[in-house]
Amino acid sequence: MGDKPAILGIDVGATGIKGTLFSPNFEIIADLGRRPTEADLGPEQAIAKMVAMLLEARPNWQGHRIALWGGNIPGPARYGEGRILRSPNLGPTWDNFGFTDALCVALNDALGYSVPGTVANDVAAAAFGEQRFGVGGGTRSVYLAAVGGGVGGGFADASGLYKGARHVCQNHIGHVYVVDPTLPYAPLCGCGKRGHMEAFTSFTSMFLAVDNALARNAATCLKDEWATTSNKGKSLMDAAKAGDAVARQILEVSAHYLAIALHNAAMEFEPDVLAVGGGVTYYEPYIGIVAREVDALFPETWTVLREETQVVFAQLKNNAGRVGGAALAMEKAGMPLPTSLPAATLNAD
Ligand SMILES: [Zn+2]
Repeated sequence: MGDKPAILGIDVGATGIKGTLFSPNFEIIADLGRRPTEADLGPEQAIAKMVAMLLEARPNWQGHRIALWGGNIPGPARYGEGRILRSPNLGPTWDNFGFTDALCVALNDALGYSVPGTVANDVAAAAFGEQRFGVGGGTRSVYLAAVGGGVGGGFADASGLYKGARHVCQNHIGHVYVVDPTLPYAPLCGCGKRGHMEAFTSFTSMFLAVDNALARNAATCLKDEWATTSNKGKSLMDAAKAGDAVARQILEVSAHYLAIALHNAAMEFEPDVLAVGGGVTYYEPYIGIVAREVDALFPETWTVLREETQVVFAQLKNNAGRVGGAALAMEKAGMPLPTSLPAATLNAD
């Protein structure tokens, strides 16, 4: 054991666990890879897997001491104490599980010294990373929305990540209402309510829209590959890039409702930057649609917001949650953060 400090960034999702060891300047010391979460087998085995991933990579981090860990867990959770409340993505065996305490105990047992840690929602952590190292450049305020199977959100400015009164919701923008839930066409969200943005914008919703288009025999090149493709998101966006009208319309609808929610966030939080991350960054025209629609929604009297609110794709990539989680842990511990990321970290998975 040496004494160069390393910060462990971890990401616990419904399907996979990922880990990366960073230096305090965010050079990647070791990529711990990915293991399946197997959430239905319960949280204890997932914690054990995380520790095993760290120990198996030990030859790659010789000469370092794990100083801190910072992670992402799905919510709803009381992130301040690191306790999952009830996660629909992880299942009932994770209800009321004290994640932070359990991982701290497991790391202490495995390493023989104490490693303090902290957790956040993955997109909230990514928003913090984006403010510090990405489109925020450390000074500008950033509202981030990330489009994946759901749509997460987060807001951070120079004073830090906005955490809310109970540190539970963390700007979960996917569940804001973009249409009246009593209207007959208001679609059902994964959370059980109708009219939420996520029910229009997420990849889950876009895939349903493809299914519906195929069921009514719409003319689309997706017809031949949809049942067999291993990456529906990429297939959909590739079809849109190739000019497929059905695919384009589906992405247009997704961007339209995201723009409504982001416009609302702009009116509430007045960020310098509205950033869009997640899988949709693969489809370059998406951000142009969001920017155009956010712009059109600002009332004439708020010209200053229209002119000065930037709408851009996020800069951090797939490891944004781990970078942001590690950065939040460092901030909590009073460690200074760098002003930018090394190129290899910015572009890593
Ligand atoms: Zn919802």
